[in-house]
Amino acid sequence: MSTPTRSVVPDLPDPLPIAVVDNHTHLDIEREGVAVDVADLVARAKAVGVDRLVQIGCDLPAARQTVVMVDTYPEMLGGVALHPNEVPGLAESGSLETAYAEIEELARHPRIRVVGETGLDYFRTGPEGQGVQQDSFRWHIDLAKRLGKALQIHDRDAHADVLRVLEEEGAPGSTVLHCFSGDLTMAQECAERGYYLSFAGTVTFKNAHGLRDALSVTPLDRLLVETDAPYLTPHPHRGAVNAPHLVPLTVRAMAATLGVAVPTLCEALSANSERVYGPWA
Ligand SMILES: [Zn+2]
Repeated sequence: MSTPTRSVVPDLPDPLPIAVVDNHTHLDIEREGVAVDVADLVARAKAVGVDRLVQIGCDLPAARQTVVMVDTYPEMLGGVALHPNEVPGLAESGSLETAYAEIEELARHPRIRVVGETGLDYFRTGPEGQGVQQDSFRWHIDLAKRLGKALQIHDRDAHADVLRVLEEEGAPGSTVLHCFSGDLTMAQECAERGYYLSFAGTVTFKNAHGLRDALSVTPLDRLLVETDAPYLTPHPHRGAVNAPHLVPLTVRAMAATLGVAVPTLCEALSANSERVYGPWA
C-alpha cells in the first residue's frame, strides 16, 4: 500500500451548484514530477462545476503552448505575456525586443483574451531589476489597450508601484489583479477604480485574516476566482499540487467570508468572467 505524499493531486471536492471559471491557471507547468494530463484536468474540473478556464503562458515557450491549448480545448481561453521575473534576464541577453514582438503576435489570436501575467515582483527581483520590470509592465498595459484584451497583473510586494503605474499609463477597460494579495484599503481602492480582484487558494489559509478582510469589502461584481495551479493549493490541501478542480474549496471559503449563498457567488463569478474575457463559445 502506498502512502499519499505532498505530490499527490487531491481528489475531487463536492461539485458547485452553478459552474464558474478558473480565471488563472498554468496547465503547461509540471510540478514535483506530477505529469500534466491536460484533457484529464479539464474533465475533472468540469465534473465539479469549473467548466471554463483561462490558461496563462508567461514565457515564450508557455505562450506558444497556450495558443495550441486554446485551439484544442473549447473550455479554454488564454493569456500571454512575459512574467516580470522573466524580463530582467531577457533584457540582459538583448532578446527582450524580439520576445515582445512574438508576444504581440501570439496575443492577436482570437481566443487569447488576456495580456498577462505582467506586473511587478519585488520579492524575487531586486532593486537592480525594477526599472526594466516597470518598463515591461508599461509595454504590456499598452499592448492590452491596443489589442482590446484584458490585463492580468502579478503584484508581489509591489502594491504602491502597481497602482501608480496603472494610474500613470491608464488601465485597460478590464484590469484584473491576479492572486490578489493587498489589504482592505487596497481592495477598496481597486474596486473604486473598477479593477477586478481575483482570489486564489491563499484566501483559505488559516492565517490569511488580512486577505479575508480585503475580500469582505470587495463588491460582488468585482470578484473573480482562480487556482494559479499548480501553486497555491487551498486549505486543507495546502502544499499539495494544485489543479482547477480545487476551485470549489476556494469558492465555498469565499462565500463564507462574504456571508453570501454559494449559488449567488457562483453566479457573480461566472458573469464577471464573461464580462472580462468575453464568451467562451
Ligand atoms: Zn500565475
